[in-house]
Amino acid sequence: MSGKLSNKIAVITGGSSGIGLAIAKEFVAEGAYVFITGRRAAELEKAAKEIGRNVTPVQGDVADLEDLERLYGIVEREKGRVDIIVANAAVGGLAPPGAAASPDHFDRVFNVNTRGVFFTVQKAVKLLSDGASIVLTASNAHYLGIPGFAPYSASKAAVRSFARTWAAEFKDRGIRVNTLSPGPIDTPIMGTSGLTPDEVEKFMQQIVANVPLGRMGRPEEMAKAALFLASSDSSFVTGIDLVADGGMTQI
Ligand code: NAP
Repeated sequence: MSGKLSNKIAVITGGSSGIGLAIAKEFVAEGAYVFITGRRAAELEKAAKEIGRNVTPVQGDVADLEDLERLYGIVEREKGRVDIIVANAAVGGLAPPGAAASPDHFDRVFNVNTRGVFFTVQKAVKLLSDGASIVLTASNAHYLGIPGFAPYSASKAAVRSFARTWAAEFKDRGIRVNTLSPGPIDTPIMGTSGLTPDEVEKFMQQIVANVPLGRMGRPEEMAKAALFLASSDSSFVTGIDLVADGGMTQI
């Protein structure tokens, strides 16, 4: 099949929902074979059915090193290499402001969002093809001072930093590393923030009031941005943060 990702093998963590699922669909439409992950087996199977073809769901937690090793063991047996990694799995995280996040909250956010991204890439290195593309999902929150988001925003600032270091470390193999920083996107992630649905609604209204384009973004719009970074359309782009936030942090 022809397309921008023809014959490419992609691993997308958190590919069972929201932005990751939209990316998986876009990549398959462009000719890739995708491995998608997530902790909830039922959600993952449902997502694989929606994608419909050229997909292997692998249940697992990015905070668990054995799960990551099992994931890449399956990829190695089935396809032998990885051309694209989208390290996208993360949890949302609103904590009480005033440096009041609990140790559990802090650890949960960093374990998934930062440590999870680090080892998602580390465990893939031996399978990465020369010329591979690594896309790390960060967030525009790392540019902002949003009360209650200290651990979440810092977890994403670290991810943005990983991209700079890895872009330098992998450049001699032609491997490019970039982050994608979405603004507010309509996905289930706020359901993991600890807020009630009403509180989520109010919070999102406040956030959207600060988006120059006047609305939330759609997962499909993030998938187009990820496709740019994953494909040879961005062949001279490495180490950047592609901010797709309706102008929220840029205007
Ligand atoms: P989402 O719809 O909640 O999807 C998150 C995905 O990650 C799910 O597939 C989830 O599946 C998976 N996941 C969570 N924890 C995991 C873990 N420990 N191990 C493996 N998989 C895990 O969220 P989303 O909005 O699409 O978020 C995707 C990315 O975009 C995240 O990195 C997020 O921080 C970033 N982002 C989102 C927004 C936004 O407004 N939506 C804004 C900026 C950045 P399970 O729960 O089954 O594990």
